[in-house]
Amino acid sequence: MVKRFKIDLPAFFEVGEHKTLTLCKILKAHELKFKHVLLLGDHRTFLIGGGPISRSFEDGSIKVFKHLISSSDEPNVEHVENLIKEKKPDLVIGFGGGKVLDVSKLAAGNCNIKYISIPTTLSNDGISSPVSVITDKNKIPVSHITKAPCGVVVDTSIIKQAPTRHIKAGVGDLISNLSAVFDARLAQSKNCEKTNDTALSLAEAGAFKLLESNAESVKDDEFLLILTQGLIKSGFAMCIMGSSRPASGSEHKISHSIDYLYSPRKTLHGEQAGIATLFTMVLQENEYLQKVRALYERIAFPHSLKKLHLNSDQFVKTVVNATKIRPDRYTILEEKKLSAADIKEALHEAKL
Ligand SMILES: [Zn+2]
Repeated sequence: MVKRFKIDLPAFFEVGEHKTLTLCKILKAHELKFKHVLLLGDHRTFLIGGGPISRSFEDGSIKVFKHLISSSDEPNVEHVENLIKEKKPDLVIGFGGGKVLDVSKLAAGNCNIKYISIPTTLSNDGISSPVSVITDKNKIPVSHITKAPCGVVVDTSIIKQAPTRHIKAGVGDLISNLSAVFDARLAQSKNCEKTNDTALSLAEAGAFKLLESNAESVKDDEFLLILTQGLIKSGFAMCIMGSSRPASGSEHKISHSIDYLYSPRKTLHGEQAGIATLFTMVLQENEYLQKVRALYERIAFPHSLKKLHLNSDQFVKTVVNATKIRPDRYTILEEKKLSAADIKEALHEAKL
């Protein structure tokens, strides 16, 4: 008998130029009824789009409260939860980069309020996923599984204003799915974990599209569309699986290990995961390694240890520590049981 289960997926996603100008119409078209909207952003995002979003709700019957998010930490989540209890909104909108979206998503999920994600950059796959990364009191980023957004609106005219570095980080996070999916299939073959083929195929589909693209600029219209759709699919894959597994394998263990050992970081999550992917793909003898390297060179994605501000001994320590992170998740790191010399050899082969 086929087991049936309920999947918490975003009901819609809209991608295109100036989408935020007609946000109210978009939400109504998707039968989202609301009277009080809590709009969360930061100084920069409110400057570039807070006014137009608020004005799109100006039909007299809808109240919009704005609130600034200063950081993606536990006090900010708690503060927004208290605001939700006080103002009683029926819709929360996160309008910003990863930090704003992570706080908005977790606070709305904890209070069981509908949440819409409007990213202003594409630096990671959190735009449509049920995962929220919040810094704990020890300044370590911790992943929480919560409710997925009920909708995602990507205004490409706003995304184009984002720093190129942030968009490249999104490329790294999406490409890292190729390493994560390899690990998930490895775990399944060893009977260590059960996976979902639909979720894994969805997670790697967006990464394959990036590899096929010939664009040399990450701000090329077609490339941005491929990246947006890929990151959204990646989030959907996590919703189907109910965990970050389709987009998080050995390369994410290494990225989390870097955060754990060397925080605070100057590098972005997607940069760390994208660079670590070159290393894990060498261990996996992953068939897509050369294509990933060619893509990174074409778009000038940072791909060296120097860009991670780590030397080779620090990287060895990072990889050794990485197997202690999510030990329930079997990856190529657990399979290979690497010595320091093995790690240095793979580093050399990965040309990092
Ligand atoms: Zn990631």
